[in-house]
Amino acid sequence: MKINFYESQREYKEKKHEFDGAIKNIIDSGAFILGNEVKTFEEEIKDFTGAKHAIGVASGTDALVIASDILGFSDNKEIVTTPFTFLASTSCLAKHGGKPVFVDIDEESCGMDVDQLEAAINDNTVGVLPIHLFNQMCDMDKIMEIAKKHDLKVLEDAAEAFGMRWQMQGEERYRHAGTIGDMGVFSFFPTKTLGGYGDGGMIVTNSDELADMCRMFRVHGASKKYHYDYIGYNSRLDAMQAAVLRVKLKYINNAIENRGRVAKLYTEGLKNVEGVKVQGIKSANQKNVYYVFNIFAENRDGLAEFLKSKGVATSIYYPKPLHLQKCFEYLGYKEGQFPVTEKMCKQILALPIYPELTNEEVEYICDCIKEFYN
Ligand SMILES: *Cc1c(COP(=O)(O)O)cnc(C)c1O
Repeated sequence: MKINFYESQREYKEKKHEFDGAIKNIIDSGAFILGNEVKTFEEEIKDFTGAKHAIGVASGTDALVIASDILGFSDNKEIVTTPFTFLASTSCLAKHGGKPVFVDIDEESCGMDVDQLEAAINDNTVGVLPIHLFNQMCDMDKIMEIAKKHDLKVLEDAAEAFGMRWQMQGEERYRHAGTIGDMGVFSFFPTKTLGGYGDGGMIVTNSDELADMCRMFRVHGASKKYHYDYIGYNSRLDAMQAAVLRVKLKYINNAIENRGRVAKLYTEGLKNVEGVKVQGIKSANQKNVYYVFNIFAENRDGLAEFLKSKGVATSIYYPKPLHLQKCFEYLGYKEGQFPVTEKMCKQILALPIYPELTNEEVEYICDCIKEFYN
């Protein structure tokens, strides 16, 4: 068997007419920049997530950079976040001269260890940037409580968290990831749960004022054409991507269900394999989504090599924590400061997971893993 880590062709072949038609419509319409398609997609994201505002931008990274700029995560102000993530979660702060302050992650969720948050806050702290990583959300009850107490802004990196929802204590409803803090971001990078055929991203917020600023910032800071209130960005969600994403959004609940099916098969198939631990879900008060399927593996690199020889591609999120990256040397962190993060970097391995993955393929992967440890 040959099993790719990520696969767009199966879905495309299934719905070729819809995707081709959607793209052709954009070309026929000639509305390439912030036309009707982007607007309609933003409306649909608002409906799906319950956010009051949704603003399409060029990527998840741009969404983080723009949101950080607007929230004042800049000029030596401190923002508490975690080092076990994709670069963009932290570079967005550093880009504006903000100072990332790391706390370690929780071993089970791989999200922020909220018990360490308060100790990292001082008079210079202006924000918290929780990252809802892989397949579950950070403890938003605790984060919002502490943020409120210290008057901090909260920017949720929900790049990987599309479809995830959290039930705040005392509430009936579940709130979508990204809509609990002041601002939240999604990435539509092709591999993500809602992924396009290229780059794309979105900012969500319930604040009218912040949303107005986002809409200005993505068009160079213009309040109207050629009138610039801010020094902004050129960062719009492409109309062609919006068209593709609208097709995908129609089927998103089914896609999420299928990710759950794959995760369940892996969990059952690997539960008695010595040397492997499946990543669990820490908090019950959420509806999680399996964006990736992680295992913590003994001799992780050996296993990855073995799987490769069996035709199974894997990936490592993340092999090197941000506090040990060369670009963040100036922050002065040392090896050993974030032991949970560093341990995860050595053990974690992501197995293929996408809605079209067949039961047979998952069983084959589980069998290969068992073979390796026997
Ligand atoms: C993918 C990702 C991003 C960046 O999104 P892009 O659309 O690729 O720019 C940011 N943060 C996290 C946690 C991500 O996984």
